[in-house]
Amino acid sequence: MSKMNPKEWAAQVVKQEEIDKYLVNGKDFIDESEIINKLETNRNPDPQRIRDILGKSLSIQRLEPDETAALLNVTDPELLKEMEETALKVKQKVYDNRIVFFAPLYCSNLCVNSCLYCGFRKENSEEKRRILSLDEVRKETEHVIDEGHKRMIVVYGEHPLSDVDYMVDTIKSVYSVQKKSPKGRGHGSIRRVNVNAAPMSISDLKKLGDAGIGTFQVFQETYNRDLYSKLHPAGPKSDYRWRLYALHRAMDAGIDDVATGALFGLNDWRFEVMGLLYHAIDLERQFGIGPHTISFPRITPASGSELSTNSKYLVSDEDFKRLITVIRLSVPYTGMIVTAREEPGIKKEVIKLGCTQTDASSKIGIGGYSESQDCQIAEKQQFTLGETRSLDEVIRELAEMGMISSFCTAGYRCGRTGDKIMNLLTECVEGKFCKLNAILTFKEYLEDYASEQTKTVGEKLIQKEIDEVKQIPFFKQHNLIEKLEEYYGRISKGERDLYL
Ligand code: SAM
Ligand code: SF4
Repeated sequence: MSKMNPKEWAAQVVKQEEIDKYLVNGKDFIDESEIINKLETNRNPDPQRIRDILGKSLSIQRLEPDETAALLNVTDPELLKEMEETALKVKQKVYDNRIVFFAPLYCSNLCVNSCLYCGFRKENSEEKRRILSLDEVRKETEHVIDEGHKRMIVVYGEHPLSDVDYMVDTIKSVYSVQKKSPKGRGHGSIRRVNVNAAPMSISDLKKLGDAGIGTFQVFQETYNRDLYSKLHPAGPKSDYRWRLYALHRAMDAGIDDVATGALFGLNDWRFEVMGLLYHAIDLERQFGIGPHTISFPRITPASGSELSTNSKYLVSDEDFKRLITVIRLSVPYTGMIVTAREEPGIKKEVIKLGCTQTDASSKIGIGGYSESQDCQIAEKQQFTLGETRSLDEVIRELAEMGMISSFCTAGYRCGRTGDKIMNLLTECVEGKFCKLNAILTFKEYLEDYASEQTKTVGEKLIQKEIDEVKQIPFFKQHNLIEKLEEYYGRISKGERDLYL
């Protein structure tokens, strides 16, 4: 970790030459007037044009800005319903009925930035500051493993004490933990660590890549420059363009699973959806790969932040569903994450519209997993959680809806990342491997962590899945059914971490 004082440290974060190298024809990929113009000129779209666009999404092609702008302008309830139905079909085609689970681990809330919507901003004296020691990281990880998780996202404020070397140490600590399951069958561990952190230089990103991270995630918050400046008045985060190319640098550093997002509630949601699309297009253009996932967190009340409760752009549930539908249709290959910021009812609805990943049993206070529930005091959290149910409860609800919970991390460990996974996703092949690995990891979960009630519902669903798999020619052609049955039997007898 850096011993520099925070002010000096913050002043040397941004490297101009690592921004300008990504300009195309001297321009950034976001042009606000172009976005506004597209939203304006695609008003009142003709229903037949919308249906043609839906056909394009269904053939798993990424949409162009005019097409997305047209979808964003649909208000007719019948057409909106068709869009929702198509979004679900697209999701099923690419990702089937799987939902991938992860847990966040907040390692530090020290921060040199001043984001007006966040409880961690440096001016917030209500916030009790804390950075986890590596021992504490391991303890937190044990709790997360005990819930049954296999994937984690580590989250950090931006500060010299939580610089890239600290991140690498914490990631290694997470990977080092092995824990016997409470039911005494297998050993659990975190098999994939993703990172949500401030934008970094290419050399720092290489260090993260060497630590074996899965996805590097940075949310742009808003794609509107002027608003961005107002919301981020100080610190390295005030540099809009340093953030805009954070994922480009990650790609250059060899991390080819990158994740974007916007914080919804700061600005007109239509504008931000267009920004996300332009971001995906530029990553495709410059690296041949779009974002591995897109997130669309809605702003939730944060300690000491008035903006988090009184912003005039807070997004209603109806609009939230629309924006998720349009993202699913516009970037059909991408994973989509709905987090525990959302309450169970709306989360259930948007999972049906195309979300592919979510978290559960989450604690977002620093040290929150190790401390008792009573200690989850508001000032220790970055913002308020809407979903506080256990992983077991959420999994049971999804299984009752016919959705299989996946803890699969095989893609990343078999080299199915970046452009390789993108091609498989667009050809709808990756989904097939994932279906089998979802069954295997779900079985592990049911054996090691599930309540009896969840196990009963889950086993029934697995049986139905296996029966379905046997009918699919792809699996027969590739001799995958025998393999699945062999691995399934071995997991039932206590072996773990078998994947295709
Ligand atoms: N410090 C890093 C950064 O800002 O990129 C990473 C950690 S930050 C805690 C992760 C994300 O939390 C931010 O990108 C922002 O979108 C989100 N966030 C901040 N305040 C929020 C709030 N009040 N409600 C919901 N999400 C919020
Ligand atoms: Fe710090 Fe990130 Fe919160 Fe901004 S959003 S105050 S950078 S932790």
